[in-house]
Amino acid sequence: MSGPHIGIGFDDKIASVAGKLAGKLEKALELRTVGDLMTHYPRRYIDKATVAELDELREGDFLTCFGKVVHSQLKTWQDKRTRRTAYRLEVVVETDGTHLAMTFFDKQQHTAEWRAGVLGVGRHGMFSGKLGRFRDDWQLTNPQTRLYGEEMSAADAFAAVPNLIPLYPASGTIQTWDIEDTIRVALDLVDIPDVLPGDVREKHDLMDVRTAFRWIHRPDAWAQKVKAEQRLKFDEAFVAQTVLARRRKALAATPASPRTGGGDILARFDERLPFELTKGQDKVSDEILGELARPHPMHRLLQGEVGSGKTVVALRAMLQVVDSGGQAALLAPTEVLAQQHHRSITNMLGDLAQGGQLGGAEGATQVALLTGSMNTAARKRALLDAASGEAGIVIGTHALLEEHVQFFDLGLVVVDEQHRFGVEQRAALNSKAGKPPHVLVMTATPIPRTVAMTVFGDLDTSTLTELPAGRADVQTNVVPVRAQPAWLERAWTRIREEVADGRQAYVVCARIGDEPPKDEGPVLRAVLEVTEELATGPLKDVRVEMLHGRMTPDDKDRVMRAFAAGDIDVLVSTTVIEVGVDVPNASVMVVLDAERFGVSQLHQLRGRIGRGGHPGLCLLVTETDPESPSMERLAAVAGTRDGFELSRIDLEQRREGNVLGHQQSGRTSGFKLLSVLVDEEAIVAAREEATTLVETDPELSGSADLRSAVRRLEESEQAEYLEKT
Ligand code: ADP
Ligand code: MG
Repeated sequence: MSGPHIGIGFDDKIASVAGKLAGKLEKALELRTVGDLMTHYPRRYIDKATVAELDELREGDFLTCFGKVVHSQLKTWQDKRTRRTAYRLEVVVETDGTHLAMTFFDKQQHTAEWRAGVLGVGRHGMFSGKLGRFRDDWQLTNPQTRLYGEEMSAADAFAAVPNLIPLYPASGTIQTWDIEDTIRVALDLVDIPDVLPGDVREKHDLMDVRTAFRWIHRPDAWAQKVKAEQRLKFDEAFVAQTVLARRRKALAATPASPRTGGGDILARFDERLPFELTKGQDKVSDEILGELARPHPMHRLLQGEVGSGKTVVALRAMLQVVDSGGQAALLAPTEVLAQQHHRSITNMLGDLAQGGQLGGAEGATQVALLTGSMNTAARKRALLDAASGEAGIVIGTHALLEEHVQFFDLGLVVVDEQHRFGVEQRAALNSKAGKPPHVLVMTATPIPRTVAMTVFGDLDTSTLTELPAGRADVQTNVVPVRAQPAWLERAWTRIREEVADGRQAYVVCARIGDEPPKDEGPVLRAVLEVTEELATGPLKDVRVEMLHGRMTPDDKDRVMRAFAAGDIDVLVSTTVIEVGVDVPNASVMVVLDAERFGVSQLHQLRGRIGRGGHPGLCLLVTETDPESPSMERLAAVAGTRDGFELSRIDLEQRREGNVLGHQQSGRTSGFKLLSVLVDEEAIVAAREEATTLVETDPELSGSADLRSAVRRLEESEQAEYLEKT
């Protein structure tokens, strides 16, 4: 099927097909180009056969019915809030012998009168909305409405309705029918670009793109919609993978300084390491050290279960760079974590980190810390050490990304806990080195293969699966306080017992406690009050302190240090301890209002205990209903410590955008149909095809359509990046 070619393409302004609706479409739905419009796919379809079946109504159902207006009356009323006259059009529609009430609210007299005029008795139309109850009767409030010609008979009007009625994401100012009409016209006018090489299309048994667009917008049968979707999903995957393949290729051709070592800090560090590396750490370390020695930038993602020992792997990489005369930066997502890394790395290095100081080992380096709210003197010192190269390792938060931070010779950037960092921050750090530095990204959030392929498609991946030997078990129990109020007492008793044994504990709360009160929802336990209660009540004989995000950096650091040193027994905190905090002596964790946390988050939190040789106990305290889905989630967390399994459960329960996190979803923003979780097959196949194509034709000279699509995706990513900075 090929349409008339009058030369309207995806890059043209939407006005070239949408006429006077263009302004509204652009304003309400941000559809700026013809391509935006054509890829504004239906959210759902209504089967014409099911229209107007009004038996078995349930509140909240999305209902579409076809019928005749039999009653229509405009009423005014006084809006108490605005103290103005408001308008209400009450309509009754007869459909299949049943009557259904509808109410349309308007604020303006002229729109109300216009509406009353068009919704006159005798008109046929289609009405679509959420079903509600009003005074014991069913009704639709402000349904989307499409009316048919005044002279049209009911039969003719109904015949004009397609078999599958597409429902588009719409807005208050523009209705799904308007979008449908605009797209129907556009389908005949627009040159649909074909991004897929013919042989790829045939090999994967995909339909032609023109028909695919027609069928996705106006299917006659479900099978058509399914086939169309297959093709268009593949296209999305293919364009994204082409972008990534090109990026990988460019990276492979980019020069970087090889960091082959030369000094002996790494060797001396290895000698004094108090434990043996696991097999996994060994293997991944070798991989990384090997790549650092190559003349092209490494871009590697290091995934590893909570507590699998990623830090030491990263530190060894940093030391090889230092041994080569370069510097390494370690970027942490929170101040607490940056401080902890600084502390533990300084400790692990001992006199190897005391370069230039009395007692420092010969040839030793320095480790600098730079966070956003350090005092001026400390900041200046750190900035100087980074710029002069005195500090071989610079650890910090976002502050490291600021423009005035300079390095003498930045060779490696390590990003800890990538899920808190966006692609753009990586870019900002890259720009601080003469040649692009090597990059190592670490994450404890297991990332499914396809997500890694799309979101981190330009990174190679290493995975640490085993935990170091000697890790004790962590037992997790759900504590349903509503059913068993006494159990909470027992939790505090357990903490007292552990503390008596020399152990330490965390108590995690969902909020700090100085936020403005919310009107809705249950009152959650807060750090401020829980600390007070415990310190004067059940835990009055042990040392209780609190930690939360609104404390000053100095206070946070002081508390974390004291906790790490064993000078605090119980730390009451928010999720600031969620990632990376490493105090091996801590053995108990009590999470209050546990149902407020996600599965992966609970898993991360729990990873804070059981890090030393002491068996851990994690108590998930909840007031939630025993039958609720939240309880199922908690049971799942209690049931396994396998992070990959839990992330799968998490993914099933959450929407993808959330899973990927705001920043990470940025790269997938081009996807309208493709699901990085569901469409594994298409993604894997598209990746292979794209890689092959880019190998032979990196400039994509064979296809102008593909070139344009690739450019559009790159530009949209760029735009997103610019918006955020
Ligand atoms: P994560 O991967 O969660 O960031 P860390 O790097 O913080 O884990 O390591 C957790 C703890 O395990 C640290 O105290 C670290 O010193 C210790 N550790 C790391 N590797 C080993 C090992 N091979 N044997 C024993 N302990 C190890
Ligand atoms: Mg870590």
